[in-house]
Amino acid sequence: MSTLGVTRAETIPQASPPPAAECVGGEPCVLLKLGELVLKGKNRELFERRLQNNLRAAVRDIARVEIARRYGVMVLRSEGADVATIDRLVRRATDVMGIVRAHRAWRVNKDVDGVVQAALDLMAGRSGSFAVRARRRDKRFPLTSTELDRLVGQRIVDAYGLQVRLAAPDHTVSIEVDRDEAFVFTDGVAGQGGLPVGMSGRALVLMSGGIDSPVAAYRMMRRGLRVDYLHFSGMPFTGPESIYKAYALVRELDKFQGDSRLYVVPFGKAQQQIKSSGADRLAIIAQRRLMLRTGEVLARRLGGAALITGDSLGQVSSQTLANITALDDAVQLPILRPLIGLDKIEIMDQARRVRTLSISELPDEDCCTLLAPRRAETRAKIDDLRQIDRRLDADELAEQLAEGVQLHRPRYGEST
Ligand code: ATP
Ligand code: MG
Repeated sequence: MSTLGVTRAETIPQASPPPAAECVGGEPCVLLKLGELVLKGKNRELFERRLQNNLRAAVRDIARVEIARRYGVMVLRSEGADVATIDRLVRRATDVMGIVRAHRAWRVNKDVDGVVQAALDLMAGRSGSFAVRARRRDKRFPLTSTELDRLVGQRIVDAYGLQVRLAAPDHTVSIEVDRDEAFVFTDGVAGQGGLPVGMSGRALVLMSGGIDSPVAAYRMMRRGLRVDYLHFSGMPFTGPESIYKAYALVRELDKFQGDSRLYVVPFGKAQQQIKSSGADRLAIIAQRRLMLRTGEVLARRLGGAALITGDSLGQVSSQTLANITALDDAVQLPILRPLIGLDKIEIMDQARRVRTLSISELPDEDCCTLLAPRRAETRAKIDDLRQIDRRLDADELAEQLAEGVQLHRPRYGEST
C-alpha cells in the first residue's frame, strides 16, 4: 500500500476529503504516511523527530495535537476535535514536507463491530467500486486480514449495494488493527513527500519576482533545507513592485516551512556603479556575481551553508555554461541550482502546482532591466570579471549591501 512515487508525491492536493457522518463510538484523527522509506537507523530517527516538530508547528493555530508513531505511520489526535477540525489538520499536513499522504481516520475499539461501523460510516454516500484492505499488527485479533476484508466488504455491499473491485477500485477502505485500537480510513490526500524541512540544514535563496526561483526554493525545501530569502530591488530607481511580488511569493511558499524570512536589498545604486565601471557587455554577469557575494555575506551571518538560484541551463543568455561557471567563481559557498536540467514547461508546471505561477506572472519592473546591455556576453571570461570586481571593490560593496538589508516576515494565510 505504499504511495511513495515521484508523480504522486509531487501532486499538490486540491480536493479535500468528503465530509463524513460522526462515527458512533469512534474518534476522528489524522493518519499520516511518511516519505523516504529508504532511510534507516539514525537518519530515520532524525526524520521522524524533525517531522513531529514541524507538524506541531504547522498546526499550532488549528488545534493542540498529540502525535504518536506507529509502525511507519504517524497518528495525530486532538482531544474533542470534530470532523471539520480534523479535515483542516489533514489539509495542513499535506503541505508539511516528508508526508506522502494524509488521511482522515477513525480510531475505534479493537473489535469487529467497531471496525465495521467505521467502514460503513466512511462509505456512506459514495458510489462506484471499492476494495477493503486490512492489516493486522496484532495477530491475536479474532479474524485474519483476509477474513476481515471479506466481512467488511460484504457489510458495505449489503448496506449500499456498491461493487467490489480489487484492481483499481474507486475507493479503498483501509483497516489497520493495532495493539490497543484499530484505524479505519479511505483514500486521503497526497502530500509533498521529500524530507522534513531543517533536516538537511539551512540555505539562502536568491529570490527574484520571476517564475524560476520560487520553484527552486520549493524543491530545496522538499529536500529538507530550511531556506531564507534574499531579493534585490532596483530601488531607488524603480518602484517597490518587485518587493511586493517577492513578498507575496514568500508568503505562499511559507506554507511549506513556516517562519520564513525575506531580506530585501535596494540594489539600484550598486547597479549604477557597475554601469559606470565600464562592465558593458559583462554588466549582467557582474551584477549576478555581486548578488551572489552579497548573498554569501548574509548566508554566513544566518548560518546558511549554500546559496540557491533558479538557473536553468541555456534558458537565457546569462545562463550558458561559461557564464554559470563565471558565477561560481565569485563565491566560496556552493550554489545549488535544482532547476538546471528542467525546461520552462516543466518549471511552469511545478510553479502552477505550488501556486506561485500567478504571482510570478504579475507585471513588475525587474531590477535587471536597468542594466541590460544591447548585447549580453554569452562567454564571460573570469579574468575580465575579476577585474571589474576589483574596480568596484566588490568585497566591500557586498558587505555594505548585506548590512543594509531590510527584513520582512511574510506569513502564509495572513491577509494582504
Ligand atoms: P527567475 O524566474 O527566477 O527570475 P530568470 O529565468 O528570470 O529566473 P535570471 O533573471 O537570469 O533568470 O536570474 C537567474 C537567477 O538569479 C534567479 O533564478 C534568481 O535566483 C537570481 N536572481 C535574478 N534576479 C534576482 C533579484 N532581483 N533578486 C534576487 N535574485 C535574483
Ligand atoms: Mg528573473
